[in-house]
Order: sequence, then C-alpha cells, then structure tokens
Amino acid sequence: MPKPRVVYWFRTDLRLHDSPALKAALDLEPDVLWPIFTWDPYYVYRARGGTNRWQFLLDCQNDLSSSITKLNPKSKLYVLREAPQTLFPKLLKAWKVTHLVFEKDTDAYARQRDEVVANAAKEAGVKVITRAGRTLWDSDEIVSHHNGKPTMSMTQLLSAAKKVGPVPRPIASPKNLPDPGDTPLDFEHHVPTDAPDVNAQARDRKETAYRGIAGPKGDFAIETLEELGFPPATTPFRGGESIALKNLADIVGNKKYTATFEKPKTSPAQFEPPSTTLLSPFLHFGALSVREFYWGVQQVVEAHGKGASTPPASLTGQLIFRDMYFAAQAAVGPKFTQTAGNPYCRFIPWHLPSERDAQTGLVTDKYTVDSDDAETWFQRWKRGVTGFPWIDALMRQLVHTGWIHHLGRHSLACFLTRGGCYVDWERGAEVFEVHLLDHEPACNAGNWQWLSCTAFFSQFFRCYSPVSFGQKWDRDGRLIRKWVPELKDLDSKYIYEPWKAPIRDQKKAGVRVVGDGLGEREEGTYPKPMFDFGKRREACINAMKAAYGVGLYGDDERVADGSWRGL
Ligand code: FAD
Repeated sequence: MPKPRVVYWFRTDLRLHDSPALKAALDLEPDVLWPIFTWDPYYVYRARGGTNRWQFLLDCQNDLSSSITKLNPKSKLYVLREAPQTLFPKLLKAWKVTHLVFEKDTDAYARQRDEVVANAAKEAGVKVITRAGRTLWDSDEIVSHHNGKPTMSMTQLLSAAKKVGPVPRPIASPKNLPDPGDTPLDFEHHVPTDAPDVNAQARDRKETAYRGIAGPKGDFAIETLEELGFPPATTPFRGGESIALKNLADIVGNKKYTATFEKPKTSPAQFEPPSTTLLSPFLHFGALSVREFYWGVQQVVEAHGKGASTPPASLTGQLIFRDMYFAAQAAVGPKFTQTAGNPYCRFIPWHLPSERDAQTGLVTDKYTVDSDDAETWFQRWKRGVTGFPWIDALMRQLVHTGWIHHLGRHSLACFLTRGGCYVDWERGAEVFEVHLLDHEPACNAGNWQWLSCTAFFSQFFRCYSPVSFGQKWDRDGRLIRKWVPELKDLDSKYIYEPWKAPIRDQKKAGVRVVGDGLGEREEGTYPKPMFDFGKRREACINAMKAAYGVGLYGDDERVADGSWRGL
C-alpha cells in the first residue's frame, strides 16, 4: 500500500505542542507532510480585523514556521493565498494528497467552511481526519451530554464535563517532521469577489496582497503587514508559541500567584505587568494549548494543597468559563453572536439597536431617548472621548494595545449598554472584534450578553460606576494618567471627575475641560462628560426593569409569543 501523503492544515492551532490533530497526522507515518495555512476571505477581507491582531497572527505563523524548520530543515509553514473552499479541491488533486488533517473548530463560520472542504476531500477520495484540541473538553461532546442545550452556567458546564471525563493530559511536541512533497500549482487561482463585509480598504488589500497562490515570489512565504496594506501595529504584545510557552512557564513558576489566583481580586488598573496572565491571545491563535495551560496550573494547585483557590475564581476556573462559552456557541450555532433568532438571548429595546434588531420592527416604539443622542454617545465611547476618564482610558488602552483586563471590559461593556448609554451590546461587540488581540466569537458575544444582562447574568441593578469603580482599584488614577495624557498632571482629587476641577486646578494641570470631544480637539483640552451618570444609571435601571417585566420574567406574554426572548 502506498504511504500516506498528508496535508496538515493549520488554522487556530498555531503550535507544535499538545496538538491531538497533528499527532493524528504523524501517527499515519506519512511519506510526505505539508504543513499549510490557507488565506481565508472571511479573515483576510473582513474589515473587522485590526492591525494589532494581524501582527499577532503573523508572529504566530513565523514562530511556528521556524519551529517546523528546526525539526526538518526542508520544511516550513506553507502559506497559500486562496480560500480553502476553492483551493482544496484543486490542491488535493495536484499534490496527490491521501489525507487531510486539521483541528476541529466549532465556530459558526468554521463549521460551514470545514463542511465544504471535507465534502470536497471526500469527493476526491481523500480521507479527512479531525481532532478536538481548542478547548478543555470537546464542545460538541459537552453539548450532547447537556441534552443538546447550551451551557449557560459554570455548573451546567461542569456537570456535562463530568460525564465526558477528565481534561485530557497534554501530548508532547513531535521530535521530527516528515519532508514536504512537491508543490505544483498548475491550476487556476480563484480570487473571490463575494467575501463577507468587503469594504474599500479590504478590496484594495485584495488587489495588492493576492499576488499568486504562493505569494509574489512563489515561495509560499508568510505575508507581511505592509503587503496586506496595514499600518504598523501599535501593540507591545507579540505572538508565537515560543513566547506563549515561556510566559506560561514564568506564570506557573510563580507558584503562589498561580495557586492562589482569584480573578475578582486582580486589578483592572494594573498594567506593566498586568494582574492576570495575558495568555488569551495565545489561546485564541492556538499558540498555547488550553490543556497545557490547565494542567500546568493544576499541578501547582495540587502541590499547594490547602489554601489554593478554586473555580470559578481560580485560574482553572477562568479556563472553564472559556469552555462554557464555546459549548454554548456550539449548541446555539450561528445565531449565538446576535439577539435576533437566538432563543437564549433576551431582547431589550435599546436606544440604539443593532441593524439586525432594528429590522425586526419590535424596537421602534420603545425609544426613551432621542436616538441621535445614543448615536453620539456610542461614537464618543468608541473614540475614548466620553468625558469619563476611566472609560476613556480603558478604550484607548484597548485600541492601542489590543488587550484590557476583564474588569476593564466589564466597565466598558456595562457603560455602553445597561449602565449608561443603553446601546445594543452587538454594537459594542463589533468594536471589540476590531481591537481585541484575543477576539473569540464565542467569548466576546457571550461576555457581552453577560454584561448587558441579556443572557448568562440578570442582575441589572448591579452597575459599574465610571468613577467609584476605578477609584476602588487606582485612587491616584495611574491608568488614566497613562492613557489619557491630557489629564496626567491633574490632582488625584479630580482625576476621575475632571469637570469638577476648579479652573485654577485645570490651569495648573495644563488642561481645560471643554467641548463634546467630537471633531478636532484643541490641544490641552479634555471633553466634558457626555451625560449626568447618576441620571442615566437610574433611567437605564428603570428601562431594564420594564424590559424584564419585573416579577413577570418567564410569564410575560411577550415571552410566550416568542417575540421577547428570541425573535
Ligand atoms: P486570565 O484572567 O489570566 O484568565 C486565563 C484565561 O481564561 C484567559 O486567557 C481566557 O482564555 C480565559 N478566560 C478568562 N476569563 C474569561 C471569560 N470571562 N470568558 C472566557 N474566557 C475567559 N476573552 C477572550 O478570550 N476573547 C474575547 O473575545 C473576549 N471578549 C470579552 C468581551 C467582554 C465584554 C468581556 C467582559 C470579556 C471578554 N473576554 C474575552 C473574557 C476575558 O476578559 C478575557 O479572556 C481575559 O481578560 C483575558 O485576559 P487574561 O488572559 O489575562 O485572562
């Protein structure tokens, strides 16, 4: 029997360590193995991937490629600039592939894409092998042990996980890799015209960046930010498996920190270094295996014994939350990331609804605020010029670095939705999708639902103040001084409420609190707050009470006809 000719398709598993799918490929004892990465119009053309996340991806690809070459000098990561759906039917034939192997992905788009590819492979007589590896437990198995329903709490996740079994132990990295085979490209290059979310910038990118399936030099090189038409990244955080493993080793090396970690006690105002692990971007791109992370921590916890923290606050608890969102998405499907058509997400008649919600016709008579105001609030939130320094600092940190602490995300999300602006969570999630290095559809949408009290969490009367919450962690306003430099010399007494500073103090600090923050801002000025927070908070809580139909939750007739909780 001829020996297997295997394509290993890397996607969000850009690592060699603990990869069940890569192990399955190597267990075939292939004659040749091509490690490849394909461009995907969904990611390459979508307007919503910021330059910082792209740089992180390129870092991961470059690091992986050099690790592959270290194991076999003839091999590397081969980048093919075509959508997998159109590329594979041609490639599998041209390279005489016998097996296509990749890590399972339960994201909604990925499922559709992988089904198309798997069908094409089967038609070409190529065996497809997939293995779960992105989560602690296979999300589909969790769902099937939860009666096909989404896991909406950690308890539900853990009870399903108990039936699935213990978290698998990590697999060692391979010691060597087979040679790659020839790479003939005697087939037509398909450049799609129907990529989702195409805009002018993305179209330009297509023209400049898509120069042949194997790139401008025909050597399957990894693309660069310049080629993609992106400006230089601003984030200080760099990607790659090597950095991920080193960072993990440092974290678990700090045994006390790891064993006693309690998320609610970590400060959102702490940076350089942050108070949490900042491993989320590595997990997103699969440069770090989540099981490697889990077991690394678990060993320290077990050795620590009494006094070690436990889920949900502990570090392993954080990873379990991640699995909870993945499994919820795996059960709900493509509608998980929206309200419309998602029976698990409560419909709220926001002042500024997402386009999808606006189209339902249910929202129009519910406005309590001129929607122009809500649009302005949204724009000011997005640009970090709300006039509330804590909120603006967090937003500017997010835009510049691509990462903020979980409670910083809480502050921004609560303020935009039920705790200030009453703007649809989907709008905020879209902004996070652009900027987050760790953007994960399941975790982003799930956490936005949590913070907006549309799913997972319902205590809408618990609001984050843009003043006192920050003060609790950072009385002197270090985070604000770093990210809102206009205010860096302001007395601590006014740092969270600069509009209260007398003119004399403003002058002393070289800042004037004037204007609405929109348009060109004069140097040395900081905008006035965009509303009276106390009044807005009250209005929001009242609106949420009405939306929840307090005391009627579950009995409300709008729930009964299906139009309230799912459209
Ligand atoms: P640590 O505290 O060190 O936790 C370790 C790991 O646990 C993280 O790397 C992450 O993978 C996981 N984790 C921790 N908290 C959560 C959580 N609440 N939900 C899911 N996983 C968690 N996380 C993402 O990975 N991608 C997202 O797109 C994302 N969007 C978010 C949007 C909002 C509005 C909010 C409130 C939270 C979001 N989170 C998201 C969750 C969380 O904020 C980040 O995972 C965490 O801040 C990452 O920093 P860390 O690696 O230092 O976390």
